[in-house]
Amino acid sequence: MAEQRFDAVVIGAGPGGYPAAIRLGQLKVKTAVIEREYMGGVCLNVGCIPSKAVIHAGKMYEKLGHTEDIGISIQGKPTLDMKKLQTWKGGVVNKLTSGVRTLLKGNGVEIIDGTAKLGKRTAEGHVIEVETKTGTQTIITKNIVLATGSRPMEIPGFKVDQKRVIDSTGALALDAVPGRMIVIGGGYIGLELGMVYAKFGTKVTVVEATPGLLGTMDKDCVAVVARKLKKMGVEVMLSTKAKSWEDKGDRAVLTVELADGKTATIDTDKILLSIGRRPNSENLGLDVAGVTVDKRGFVVADDHLKTNVAGIYAIGDLIGGMMLAHKATKEGEVVAEIIAGHKAAFDVRTIPAVVFTDPEIASTGLTEDEAKAKGHTELKVGKFPFAALGRALSVNDTEGFCKVIGDAKTGELLGVHIVGNGASDLISESALAIEMGAMVEDLRLTIHPHPTLSEAVMEAAAVALGEAIHVINR
Ligand SMILES: Cc1cc2nc3c(=O)[nH]c(=O)nc-3n(C[C@H](O)[C@H](O)[C@H](O)COP(=O)(O)OP(=O)(O)OC[C@H]3O[C@@H](n4cnc5c(N)ncnc54)[C@H](O)[C@@H]3O)c2cc1C
Repeated sequence: MAEQRFDAVVIGAGPGGYPAAIRLGQLKVKTAVIEREYMGGVCLNVGCIPSKAVIHAGKMYEKLGHTEDIGISIQGKPTLDMKKLQTWKGGVVNKLTSGVRTLLKGNGVEIIDGTAKLGKRTAEGHVIEVETKTGTQTIITKNIVLATGSRPMEIPGFKVDQKRVIDSTGALALDAVPGRMIVIGGGYIGLELGMVYAKFGTKVTVVEATPGLLGTMDKDCVAVVARKLKKMGVEVMLSTKAKSWEDKGDRAVLTVELADGKTATIDTDKILLSIGRRPNSENLGLDVAGVTVDKRGFVVADDHLKTNVAGIYAIGDLIGGMMLAHKATKEGEVVAEIIAGHKAAFDVRTIPAVVFTDPEIASTGLTEDEAKAKGHTELKVGKFPFAALGRALSVNDTEGFCKVIGDAKTGELLGVHIVGNGASDLISESALAIEMGAMVEDLRLTIHPHPTLSEAVMEAAAVALGEAIHVINR
């Protein structure tokens, strides 16, 4: 095959790579994107989108079982057809992934379906070899954006076969509801998926090696979700390590080491491994091109997304940090600007994070512990419960609160943490506020429409300032 030449080539079409390629196309840089498996990457195919579709189904299924409080009765119990749910979920994914192809083409980006590997740089530019269905394609390019993402981590002895031992991809593809499921790992992916199956009727046990769930999130928010898990009958085993498992034919038996060092066994039908993700940095020719990776395999990139090799950039899960789609996308947009010669850097004050459990947790900026560690010795903290919000009462969903954290001396807004219905959509105004260097007072003084859940943010700021109207100031 004849060599192809581009000004920029993006490897990987996930939420980092495809926006980078689109933006490069918009900026009139001659660009190709190489993708080996699926347009839209993990996020659109086996991550954010399908998981949120299944989570939505779980929420509806649970709600349908509790309509009598508001005077609606349903004849019989709602039933669940997992095969139909899978078909619907597949349709959502297909719409989005085919949209990505259209957007890339519409912005003049060449799509190459194949697996890319870096070659040795020549005087003409960087070299990429692409294994395609029809043979090996050589590409010469001035710039490369590495956006190859990540995959689930495994632990020794727990090989994922997608039958007994499944990962998040397997959990999202089940076409029958398992009777029992052990979730190894109490991070966001494990809890989101564990909760869905608990709603569908699975007896779920969460095994977590550390003493707490959702390590980095606000502890008060996590406590609300932990209470809900208990209420749903999900057993949470903290400071407990999964050691080994055995297939007994009709069931699997997991052996765990408990906090006191004793061992115990648990019977189950499925073991869902969700202990974190590792970068796709192997077999990419990074050593040949001389690109530095750290000891965990993440490509090292600076705030201009530059690796140690001139003209090679890296973004998204591949470079670690918060392994979230919106972080990857922002980096993709920034790297495109840089390659096109514009002044840009990944210079953000906050990356909001959401855990789509029920209730949801959404967070932006610092927690109280992080604020103190950063030298904010005196804090103003305001917490406003959803139970005191007219809107929350009128939609019959009053669990949770909004917490606003500010520096007591300067009044600067440091963090906002929300647990409750709609938290995922409520967090963005606070992210904007932190980006703009707002004061707690700015949230307090901004008129929020009534009756809405967003009033919780304004009210929590008022609590922090001792000026609350709808709760007693202490
Ligand atoms: C179950 C689950 C739920 C999630 N939910 C959320 C959520 O709600 N919100 C959120 O922000 N994040 C969520 N995430 C995380 C999110 O999916 C990732 O942060 C995001 O996909 C990272 O984007 P990326 O572009 O860096 O990499 P990826 O999405 O991993 O994409 C990388 C792409 O590169 C391709 N590739 C790899 N190697 C090569 C090669 N050699 N040649 C060609 N192509 C290659 C891969 O096929 C893949 O398509 C979730 C993840 C999972 C697993």
